[in-house]
Amino acid sequence: MEDCIFCRICGKEVPTDVVYEDEHIFCFHDVSPQAPVHVLVIPKKHIVSLDDVLPEDQAVLGHLLGKIGALAKELGLENGYRLVSNCGEDAMQSVRHLHFHLLGKRKLAWPPG
Ligand code: AMP
Repeated sequence: MEDCIFCRICGKEVPTDVVYEDEHIFCFHDVSPQAPVHVLVIPKKHIVSLDDVLPEDQAVLGHLLGKIGALAKELGLENGYRLVSNCGEDAMQSVRHLHFHLLGKRKLAWPPG
């Protein structure tokens, strides 16, 4: 999608600090980190949010979730981490391309704000 910043990042139109990439997913450092490790993991396909997942997207999302443990290990998150996807207005989703925040390397309070 032309005007989507995350599609432009996946398409290499906007430079970013890439952590991992394969045919279906892309992982890069968040520009405004909320923890010492804060990366975003996204499907390359433009899906607005978890509310917009179609049956045909499930394999890609299964693949994405299946990669999280390996990414966490690669990022040194042996002591634990949090995976978050903000969906919609109440969760303050600011980028309308489905993404998962992978956060770690500090104690993460619960409940979140
Ligand atoms: P959310 O508020 O859940 O929609 O999260 C969007 C995240 O994208 C925020 O943590 C932003 O800091 C991050 N972000 C926005 N633009 C960029 C960018 N160009 N490169 C990396 N991260 C970005």
